[in-house]
Amino acid sequence: MFVETTDISAVIVNIDGLISFDQVRNVTPQFLIRKQDNPSKMSIEPDIGEVLNYLNKQYTLYIVTSQTEEKVREVLKSLGNSFHPAIFSAMNSTEQILLLQPIKRAVASSRFKPCNFIYLCGDKITISQAQSLRLGTIFWEPKNIDEGDKEQVLKDGPDFQVTTKEEILNIFTRKLLGYYGEVLASPPDLTGTFTKGQYLKSLSFPNREFPDSTIEVSGRYFKKADPRHTKHALSLRIVNSKNNMDRHKNLFARIVGVMILNSIGNDFDFITRIPPKPSQRDDRIKDVIEALGVVKLSKGKIDLQCIKPELVKCMVDYPSQKDAGGYDARRENVRGVFSLTSSVRDKKIIVVDDVTTSGATLMETTELMTNAGAKQVKLFALAYHPENLTEAPAILICPQCGREMSPRLRKNDGQPFYGCQGFFERPSCKNSMSFGQAVRQLNEANQIDMDLEPFDDIEF
Ligand SMILES: [Zn+2]
Repeated sequence: MFVETTDISAVIVNIDGLISFDQVRNVTPQFLIRKQDNPSKMSIEPDIGEVLNYLNKQYTLYIVTSQTEEKVREVLKSLGNSFHPAIFSAMNSTEQILLLQPIKRAVASSRFKPCNFIYLCGDKITISQAQSLRLGTIFWEPKNIDEGDKEQVLKDGPDFQVTTKEEILNIFTRKLLGYYGEVLASPPDLTGTFTKGQYLKSLSFPNREFPDSTIEVSGRYFKKADPRHTKHALSLRIVNSKNNMDRHKNLFARIVGVMILNSIGNDFDFITRIPPKPSQRDDRIKDVIEALGVVKLSKGKIDLQCIKPELVKCMVDYPSQKDAGGYDARRENVRGVFSLTSSVRDKKIIVVDDVTTSGATLMETTELMTNAGAKQVKLFALAYHPENLTEAPAILICPQCGREMSPRLRKNDGQPFYGCQGFFERPSCKNSMSFGQAVRQLNEANQIDMDLEPFDDIEF
């Protein structure tokens, strides 16, 4: 599900990461222009050609590139006579690296708003540029991507990460709707109702220390400071659950339960959670995993006997991970703070957390269990935290009284909607709006600052 985009009319494709200008797909764009490649000898992978042709037929297609337009046209010739999208080339070496200006020029040349655009790329550098312009983003992962690049992409948190042509086509035909947690957390007035054949994805993170214990997450979590927060139902629910877990625990349990059953089925002995610190009174994730044995899951059932929230205990009031710094500092911060309350020898364990940022806490738990003889440890989190966008969020003004409208969550089931801030003020205003309508209006309000930067070449 695209956070910034509701109605798609146009697609911008960064061709550099998708075509082998440099014989490898995931090239660093800034060096390309100096290459003396012969475009007539280049070929386009059939899958990429098929996707480009599909997008060209269904949408207004724009190509951005660090190459010259002539060179790209020469390569694209093989896609046939009906394939002649507008091409926006970098005009200097700064533009070449980030492609921000060519993307801006593509949007500016069109009659569409930013919220009508999707940006598709296969490189790790330009996702954040497109996000800063508030475009929806799809990352098409190259086959030979290395772990470092993968982590960089996860940090940017694109709307979709896909590996195959089929997945891309499924996004555009609305078969692939988005990440599990994000779609399930949203009300139907935003997502539409599900039909047969539609599906959702979860994301898998490599585990730095224990390669067998990947970390699976159901979506992204945007902090309050991020302009996407107020449009993102899963983030709103996670924040709200801190004081009102009753509203959300069944939904969170359904999300986690389906992820577990999809990923490993019933092949585990215990499910537990990252424990709260000794001074923390609430034990929110315990509520979620206890609900796992109660909620209905389409894929099967989770055995109540397996649910052991208190398997891990936190012994130390460690300082906030937020203030600890980078991964190594966070890892040190939690070293030795947990202990086990019963044996895990030869057991297969699932550990659940709500939001993971660096994975350090999950890593510490994995280490504890592995050292105690656990046969397998699998990690699941509701969401991970990508880097914040720093742009200011759009604001929704109440059409009845002119005050601001802000997201609220229903008391019974935690479904988000928008309500006028005048609800508790005098004179009071009880105006409200569905979440879907509010998100569409907020997306419509996003504008690109079209001040195209002056020519400013830099030295390499
Ligand atoms: Zn109002």
